[in-house]
Amino acid sequence: MLAAVLKERGILEIEERPEPPAPPAGYVRVAVRSVGICGSDVHYYQEGAIGHFVVRAPMVLGHEAAGIVEAVGPGVEGFPRGAVVALEPGIPCGKCGYCRTGAYNLCPEVRFFATPPIDGAMQEYVLHPVEFTYLAPGLTTDQAALAEPLSVGVYAVRETRIGVGTQVGIVGAGPVGVLAALAAESAGGHVVLVDIREDRVATARQIGLEAYKQAPPALEACEVVLECSGSAGGLRLAQQWVKRGGVLALIGLGEAAAMVLDGLDLSLRGITVRGIFRYANVMPAAIAILQRNRERLHIFLGTTIGLRSLPAFLEQKEYLKPLKTIVRVPE
Ligand SMILES: [Zn+2]
Ligand SMILES: [Zn+2]
Repeated sequence: MLAAVLKERGILEIEERPEPPAPPAGYVRVAVRSVGICGSDVHYYQEGAIGHFVVRAPMVLGHEAAGIVEAVGPGVEGFPRGAVVALEPGIPCGKCGYCRTGAYNLCPEVRFFATPPIDGAMQEYVLHPVEFTYLAPGLTTDQAALAEPLSVGVYAVRETRIGVGTQVGIVGAGPVGVLAALAAESAGGHVVLVDIREDRVATARQIGLEAYKQAPPALEACEVVLECSGSAGGLRLAQQWVKRGGVLALIGLGEAAAMVLDGLDLSLRGITVRGIFRYANVMPAAIAILQRNRERLHIFLGTTIGLRSLPAFLEQKEYLKPLKTIVRVPE
């Protein structure tokens, strides 16, 4: 089977690898069809590392994956051959304190697709534990691949208790910000997005979201602000935008030097800061949101490329333009 293997920084090759064996008990063998390119894939490609995660051996890229059920192991029921599934990319240990209390996104032993040294999903087949494989009826595999980036938004919405009528500000209208907006809106929040990029503001407006280039001066303070840019300017705006007593959630990951907050202001205005790392227990909710918003998902699905075109595509830096690029496997 073909796989997109990052050999080392800047060198991606589409190579032939052995297919996985028949699925053991509790596993599904999935024919991967659609994998979204995430900022983290690009970072590993360009820099060979994200923080202390360093690519030291060849690694398959991709963690925003969907495909179809090809075979199931003994004991697996309810996953008919050919069904569309979304894959949750992080498999936690299931035993540590975090896992036992449900915060398995913080499990120190988690094996997460395309986080060194674990291989990702840009390959024709993967064996995946059934409890992290989710049926996505009514969605195409391209649409189902959005369940992963949307999960971050759903988790942030739950952790910050966004509910009916909550005023929500979102800084950064990239894929994570726009998907978080769909999640916040689904929970009943009144959502306003801000981005310095005109094209991203226009894209968000295309699907009926309220979005602005830079914060208009009269922008009302928000009870919850979701920072999705990871930039110094974005963090500053996000902090200013939170109401007294409100919640500021940090979702975007930028350079350490850019992610600075004003501690005195946080104290004086009684603001709660919440770090959001990945997600737990939200994939079914994310899939349900995609199913209800099917006609709005086209803004994420405008650019698709075949697996074999991925090396050239990454070299040309074209992934910076669209909101999301989906890699079709194997074509
Ligand atoms: Zn991602
Ligand atoms: Zn664990």
